[in-house]
Amino acid sequence: MNAYTSRVLEGLRQRNAHESEFLQAATEILESLSPVFDKHPEYEKAGLLDRFVEPERVIMFRVPWVDDQGRTQVNRGYRVQYNSAIGPYKGGLRLHPSVNLSILKFLGFEQVLKNSLTGLPIGGGKGGSDFDPKGKSDREVMAFCQSFMTELYRHIGQDTDVPAGDIGTGAREIGFLYGQYKRLTGLYEGVLTGKGLTYGGSLARTQATGYGLCYFVKNMLEANGKTVQGATVVVSGSGNVAIYANEKITELGGKVVAMSDSNGYIYDPNGVNLDVVKQIKEVERGRIKEYVARVPGSEYHEGCKGIWTIKCDIALPCATQNELDAEGAKALIANGCFAVGEGANMPSTLEATELFLQNGVLFAPGKAANAGGVATSALEMSQNSQRLSWTFEEVDEKLKGIMKGIFEKCAEAAAEYGDKPTNYVVGANIAGFLKVADAMMAQGIV
Ligand code: NDP
Repeated sequence: MNAYTSRVLEGLRQRNAHESEFLQAATEILESLSPVFDKHPEYEKAGLLDRFVEPERVIMFRVPWVDDQGRTQVNRGYRVQYNSAIGPYKGGLRLHPSVNLSILKFLGFEQVLKNSLTGLPIGGGKGGSDFDPKGKSDREVMAFCQSFMTELYRHIGQDTDVPAGDIGTGAREIGFLYGQYKRLTGLYEGVLTGKGLTYGGSLARTQATGYGLCYFVKNMLEANGKTVQGATVVVSGSGNVAIYANEKITELGGKVVAMSDSNGYIYDPNGVNLDVVKQIKEVERGRIKEYVARVPGSEYHEGCKGIWTIKCDIALPCATQNELDAEGAKALIANGCFAVGEGANMPSTLEATELFLQNGVLFAPGKAANAGGVATSALEMSQNSQRLSWTFEEVDEKLKGIMKGIFEKCAEAAAEYGDKPTNYVVGANIAGFLKVADAMMAQGIV
């Protein structure tokens, strides 16, 4: 590895020793960027990487709220404003008990490169809380969201920082957050994306991450002489990304035979009935195991990791970070899987990624493959600024074009810098980085 890159990585390891997810993402990114620093010694003189790895600002705050039993609850809220060189901070809010600073820094760091890859003017950020919306009443979720926004509102705005949804933050939560922002500021502006259609949301935003993932995978397969048509597909998760990945990959001719949640997975050799999954997860907020009682011939298995032992041609991990480890990767490879598309952020461990690359599995890294969500969020921002709304077809067409553009940028950078032209991990990291680096160099030491 380039000496400067390696020194910065070592410094990060020393100063952030307890932040395992952040270090995992930073290791992958910095290893990929190494050849860029060989070519650009001026970056070192400007301390570019030292600045790039450090968030511009981290905000951490108390979120007190009262539950249905009248008890006071306190959660921790965060916003990591990572990099604003190419536009206002942009990235989702995660609500999940596992949320901590390490996870939000890894997500924010990835987001900077992802947003750059979209070609749109958006910087990178991420936020959230260790609050768990699961099992809470609507009133409790509203109380939490209002309290969270009562601190967050002073740090965000349509031209400074525009949060969105992520794990645990769907249309309901965005609605409560938006209402409180408007109440506190009196501003009707596009400060959040993923909004409802009656108050500034964009058509196709709900579908965008899952659909975008499938468009990326389709481009990647076609460039390598393969097709989705007739492929057996495993999709992990059953949330927003997983559901719409399933919908689009099926439309493209694939057959999804398994999906999961954090308790276990279902296997349906006849092809998962997505209407049943939508009813359980989107309408009833239930568990995936309820599927087997409704669809004869399907099976439920406790535990998430077994899903990777199901024979498939294409795997789409769409649940959460590190859900696909070396063991899962080996099982997929042994069963002849030829492509992996990451719908979630960093679902594959470093070891799993390495195994896919070494064994010739076409691998679409999350920061490129799932960028359709944030790209469509940026389209929502444009519509809000123009006070216009585009049709579903218009947004979907733009999304297709953006995902094609992202794939091409990854492929070009992989061909120029990668050990092989299909190393889209290197391609995505470098293509995303170059634009941000150029903007940072132009803006001086800030
Ligand atoms: P949702 O909350 O809608 O769904 C998350 C899914 O993953 C659920 O099925 C959930 O199961 C499962 N899951 C969550 N945590 C775990 C865990 N620790 N172990 C196993 N399964 C888990 O989130 P999204 O679909 O929005 O997000 C999924 C992934 O995609 C995340 O990595 C997110 O960062 C990424 N992403 C999302 C974008 C978006 O537009 N929504 C954009 C780009 C990336 P359960 O219900 O049991 O918790």
